[in-house]
Amino acid sequence: MTKVDNCVQELLELDKKYFLHPTSPIKQQQDQGPSFIFTEGKGIMLTDIVGNTVIDGMSSLWNVNVGHGREELGKVAMEQMSKLAFSSCFATFSNEPAIRLAAKLAQIAPGDLSTTFFTSGGSEANDTAYKLARHYWILKGQPNRRKIISRTKSYHGVAMGSTNATGLKPFREFTNSFDPDFCYADHFSTEDLRCVIEAEGPDTIAAFIAEPVQGAGGLHVAPKDYFKEVRSICDEYGLLFITDEVITGFGRTGKYFGIEHYGVSPDMMCFAKGITSGYAQLGGVMLSKNIHQDLMELSTGTLLHGYTYSGHPMACAVALKNIELIEQEELIANAEKMGKEMLKGFHWIQGKCRIIGKVKGLGLMGGLEIVKDHRTNESFETPVAPLIVAEAAKRGLICRSVVFDGQDTVVFAPPLIINREELAKLLDILHETIVAVENEVL
Ligand code: PLP
Repeated sequence: MTKVDNCVQELLELDKKYFLHPTSPIKQQQDQGPSFIFTEGKGIMLTDIVGNTVIDGMSSLWNVNVGHGREELGKVAMEQMSKLAFSSCFATFSNEPAIRLAAKLAQIAPGDLSTTFFTSGGSEANDTAYKLARHYWILKGQPNRRKIISRTKSYHGVAMGSTNATGLKPFREFTNSFDPDFCYADHFSTEDLRCVIEAEGPDTIAAFIAEPVQGAGGLHVAPKDYFKEVRSICDEYGLLFITDEVITGFGRTGKYFGIEHYGVSPDMMCFAKGITSGYAQLGGVMLSKNIHQDLMELSTGTLLHGYTYSGHPMACAVALKNIELIEQEELIANAEKMGKEMLKGFHWIQGKCRIIGKVKGLGLMGGLEIVKDHRTNESFETPVAPLIVAEAAKRGLICRSVVFDGQDTVVFAPPLIINREELAKLLDILHETIVAVENEVL
């Protein structure tokens, strides 16, 4: 065995023994250890410890929007950490990167979202939104408004509130999380939303939360008029409307924020991931002018909610530079353009194969539903998407499968910097993979 082989073997064993992976197949991880130990990233590519290079067709976790290996971001992080690595934002303390980032967000956010509360990630952002919504209603003299309505097939994270808001049942079953203050409406039906509001009692509901495009739940793009109707139902019943832009924010869908495709704006907006392209841990919630105004006017005590890392100076400095890169390199327009090409490519592959049913996408979020035969739309008894993901990885492409709720879908979200040649390569590998899998399963 060479030195490298020894090192790889050692890491595999240490990983199996000491590392409990997030959202992972526990037994498989125990038996086989990690499939890739990544050591480097450049652009849309990742390289592992034995020198395999793969296309990061998911921007890792939908977050590495500006691509891997951006030295500009490393430099900013180093400079900020050397100058002021951390100071608290509790009470009346502040720091320049957090202030400037909050101001920048007010400039780019939709509608009149103007004030930001920072967190370390998306789950915390969503929990913060639920807590602020409930607190808001206490201040407004309607403390019974506690319930949060979310949607079927939604994913909002893994903190206690966001777990309960997640419409994908296995995430709630995992910890027996069935808080009666969380309820669910069908993900595409405003009629059902109205029914849930009426059944629960409008004056018990604090807010409705939705992802503009559902990602982890299977890549579902809402119908064109869906959010206009949602906005008017929320106004009619006096509910706060929260959008979860954790994936869809910062250019992913071909607009700065996903909700902009629908011509409405929310009362609160949660974000994370793309704000730093994953180079630092950061999330947050933006509040509309009115909500912020009410909180300021009605509040008499302390805002009893805050994370140690709310407004972390290094993370905020990285976010500012990341947003600068997104703007300078016109990555939002690129996401729109390349997203259309990606969909075209998916349709081309669909035409060549039998097992691709519906093709879905918006910007650089795309999904392929896998079926036995696209002419009949019949499903496989056992989902085939995980096999496609495994075979694609062997051929140098990382993508992801979604099998919740009887789904059989492969999803993609490449970095927003992807160019034509890189996209063509991604589609080539995908085509080759689908043909190979089709030959195996049909
Ligand atoms: N909301 C959405 C829409 C997400 O996709 C995710 C993560 O994938 C989250 C929230 C949770 O974010 P985090 O993993 O940063 O806590």
